[in-house]
Amino acid sequence: MGLIIDLSAIRANWKALADMAPTARPGAVVKADAYGLGAVRVAPALYQAGARDFFVALASEGRAIRPHLPQDARIFVLSGHMEGEDLAGLIPLLNSPAQFFRDRALRPRGPFGIQLDSGMNRLGFEPGEWAAVRTEALAAAPQLVMSHLACADEPDHPANAAQLDAFRTMTTGVTAPLSLAATGGTLLGADFHFDLVRLGVGMYGGLPFAKAQPVVTLGLKVIQTRDVQPGESVGYGYSWTASRPSRVATVAAGYADGLARALARGGDLTLWAGDRACPVIGRISMDLITVDVTDLPDIPPALEILNAHQGVDALAERSGTIGYEILTSLGQRYPRTYL
Ligand SMILES: *Cc1c(COP(=O)(O)O)cnc(C)c1O
Repeated sequence: MGLIIDLSAIRANWKALADMAPTARPGAVVKADAYGLGAVRVAPALYQAGARDFFVALASEGRAIRPHLPQDARIFVLSGHMEGEDLAGLIPLLNSPAQFFRDRALRPRGPFGIQLDSGMNRLGFEPGEWAAVRTEALAAAPQLVMSHLACADEPDHPANAAQLDAFRTMTTGVTAPLSLAATGGTLLGADFHFDLVRLGVGMYGGLPFAKAQPVVTLGLKVIQTRDVQPGESVGYGYSWTASRPSRVATVAAGYADGLARALARGGDLTLWAGDRACPVIGRISMDLITVDVTDLPDIPPALEILNAHQGVDALAERSGTIGYEILTSLGQRYPRTYL
């Protein structure tokens, strides 16, 4: 019942991806509270498995996990050095000339990395900006020089080769460790691995790592069941009406718990009682979902929405999104169990 997070599966996925890039250090991306699964639990579990390089989006996320990791763990901050930020114990990935000069003025001996833009046009030094500060930046010995791929989940996309080429051009002669690949880039092959890979969604059981072990099980507690007669309706807007004598279970989760209203729009969303599929009926409310359990011999204490039958990507597809968004939306209201 509740959200069950299998830390050993996260470790196994991290290791499986690390083994695909044997020449690179396998980093672990734990931004957005480890994709919603709890960075304070996930990061130490990955440290135990051997991870030493962690990535967060914000300095505040880095400060939250710093006390939970030994000193030899490096925590890189992808947003770099934002004005007024406390970066003690963290390594900002500087994204622009402004960040570079701010950082060097305020923490001249502080460790830093560099993020280059190889084509995604989201974060990082543009080639011209990099050319202007490159000599000075490299003389200060960055811990990492990295860039990020925009289309790595589409192996045939021409941007992959173009970004690889741009990254190679911008890093010619650079002796600092280099990094280009996240999960998708790791799967693209050795050309993309460089010195460090930044493993994210694949560790958490999501595509594009199709061979990932599932990490999350989510069981929703049954609060109440009732009999509904033919012609009676269920939920907001009366959008479902019984056509036979029915038994309806109401479970304790809704769109405020990351189960988007759009998941039920196709009318064929299912929850699971073990191996038996039970149709969701009516609309998803903020805190509640209603399920047709007429065909179940007994009503279990909880019905599952994420399990071996329906993973994060299968669920995501129903609402037109991606597994990343399902994970990061799960929210704080579920009782959590870590395996
Ligand atoms: C989120 C992110 C990653 C991890 O990406 P996944 O696709 O989850 O593996 C790596 N690097 C950067 C810069 C990111 O923003």
